[in-house]
Amino acid sequence: MTTKKQKNNTLEKFLSFDEIKKSLEKKETDCKAIVTYYLNNIETKAHLNAFVEVYGSSALEQAAAIDEKIAAGKAGKLAGMVVGIKDVLCYQGHTANASSKILEGFESQFTATAIQRLIEQDAIIIGRLNCDEFGMGSSNENSVHGPVKNALDESRVPGGSSGGSAVAVQANLCTVSLGTDTGGSVRQPAAFTGVIGIKPTYSRVSRYGLIAYASSFDTIGVFSKNIKDNALVLETMAGSDDYDSTSSRKAVPEYSNLLHFNKPAKIAYLKETVHSDALQPEIKEHTLQILKKLAEEGHQVEEVAFPLLDYVLPTYYILTTAEASSNLSRFDGVKYGYRTPNAHNLESMYKLTRSEGFGEEVKRRIMLGTFVLSASYYDAYFTKAQKVRRLIKEFTEDLLTKFDYIVLPTTPSTAFKFGEHSNDPVAMYLEDLFTVQASVSGVPAVSIPNGTDKKGLPIGLQIMANSFKEAELYAFANYLTEAAPNN
Ligand code: GLN
Repeated sequence: MTTKKQKNNTLEKFLSFDEIKKSLEKKETDCKAIVTYYLNNIETKAHLNAFVEVYGSSALEQAAAIDEKIAAGKAGKLAGMVVGIKDVLCYQGHTANASSKILEGFESQFTATAIQRLIEQDAIIIGRLNCDEFGMGSSNENSVHGPVKNALDESRVPGGSSGGSAVAVQANLCTVSLGTDTGGSVRQPAAFTGVIGIKPTYSRVSRYGLIAYASSFDTIGVFSKNIKDNALVLETMAGSDDYDSTSSRKAVPEYSNLLHFNKPAKIAYLKETVHSDALQPEIKEHTLQILKKLAEEGHQVEEVAFPLLDYVLPTYYILTTAEASSNLSRFDGVKYGYRTPNAHNLESMYKLTRSEGFGEEVKRRIMLGTFVLSASYYDAYFTKAQKVRRLIKEFTEDLLTKFDYIVLPTTPSTAFKFGEHSNDPVAMYLEDLFTVQASVSGVPAVSIPNGTDKKGLPIGLQIMANSFKEAELYAFANYLTEAAPNN
């Protein structure tokens, strides 16, 4: 018989859900031991501040129930998988804050469809993960729970807004985690922490139970250490949902069984991204190296001009702030969340609750959004940005019918130090330069590790495919992770 200690030790080597499953099959471990292993890791790495709440006892209870199911041969396909969730996703009976004071004490009344589908397949939810307030930020420094540290260099940010979700996978605090990506919040932190992160096609995963930031951009994405786990989680969450009328009714392929890649691909890379002045030289070098390798392996690799690059970021920030100013108007202290103790009448209750409850960055976005939607500026900003969005979307989709993939760096730089961009919102927004194109266009994109810079900090490589081509995207990413010369 295996002792508890031995059971935990076998887990030290687990880097994939496949290994976990094998160990469960061989009865070398059980779900309770797996959860205990992660709980111990969470405790020793508590200073990273990735988790804002750990569901220790309920995770152990879930694990015990799943162990019984496994013994009875009735377990779901995710039995043994331990999942962390970003603090913008609702999980019934649990607190959700969106890392904001304004949602202090808020308890979810229902469970997000994405989480529900994982639970139905016996995944175990281990806790709630830190992020930038309402998903607004690129460094995880805008959180009421304090910043998250990058486990590779604790003086540096993990990226954002899903910084906690990225570090939870990076530091082995759970098997996979859920994040959300509105303009890069899964891909950018994945790049900064050296893990894999996908933003699926807009509408592929139901947004029911996701606290909205910018509804026409928001997606739920996945962080993992390998492509197969990522694919498995996405295929389980994706698909139409009666609770979200914008969710796509297209059938969901079994991505995790379609990872084999063996055809020559047509790959475009965007001139303005790899030759951008903002790009850190080592990232440029690594990106060009992988493109060269792909050409050598017989793929068609072509440089394409993307004259709209300069307009993508302004378009994104006009439209997302407009949507955010509307979405966040519901937080007023009346029905739930924080309410100021300093009010002297109804109007001051609204004003003070919102002034005290929202952080600086969120207030900046609400004001920007209100401005671009105001009667005198609506046409000049909002309508114009909608038109430019159409142009960017059409350009991107058109390119993706001529080419199978667009390859570009995920970020202009590797992980930066805390405070480096804190006083300069525009410098922070520029972090999203390469990730917002997929968000504005709605197409799927994945970030995979592509070696490290001179300081040993991870570099991310981003791949985009056309809408609903997640299977093709994963297969290519899988091929690249194996073939990447820089890893
Ligand atoms: N950094 C971007 C922003 O602040 C992206 C955020 C996100 O994808 N949630 O808007």
